[in-house]
Amino acid sequence: MRGDVVPNPAAGWTDPVARDLVSAAFETIRDRYVLARHQIAAAVLDADGRVHLGLHVDAMVGRAAVCAEAGALSAARLATSARLLAVAAVRFPKPTEPPLARIVPPCGLCRELLLDHAPHICVALPDNPQALIPLAGLLPHKYVGTKWPAPPLTHP
Ligand SMILES: [Zn+2]
Repeated sequence: MRGDVVPNPAAGWTDPVARDLVSAAFETIRDRYVLARHQIAAAVLDADGRVHLGLHVDAMVGRAAVCAEAGALSAARLATSARLLAVAAVRFPKPTEPPLARIVPPCGLCRELLLDHAPHICVALPDNPQALIPLAGLLPHKYVGTKWPAPPLTHP
């Protein structure tokens, strides 16, 4: 099985929170990867220590695809109202690529979405191994609409 030869991109990390979150995303996409269907998985950590998983769902019409981060956010909100602390996403390589899974930063839409629901969430980045950094730093001029008043949505 190809998943046996693709190493965990967080193997050897010393920060247990970052390592476990990236590992959860990696193991999910390793087990659920399907070429041109499911390429990325995401994991979201809540304040109670639970991890919620999401799977990228590709589509014939590209804009109909759903990002893994959106799936993980939805799964988290189905399970809990706890604060969401961190997110990590991992892309599994195609069969024609070198056998390296890699951490991927959220796309622009997911940055907006995650920050709407978790303004203090941190993220694992490919060029900043072993640490989770505030996602807000990746979107300094976030869109601010009028759907809900500031501060952002809170849960009971
Ligand atoms: Zn996205």
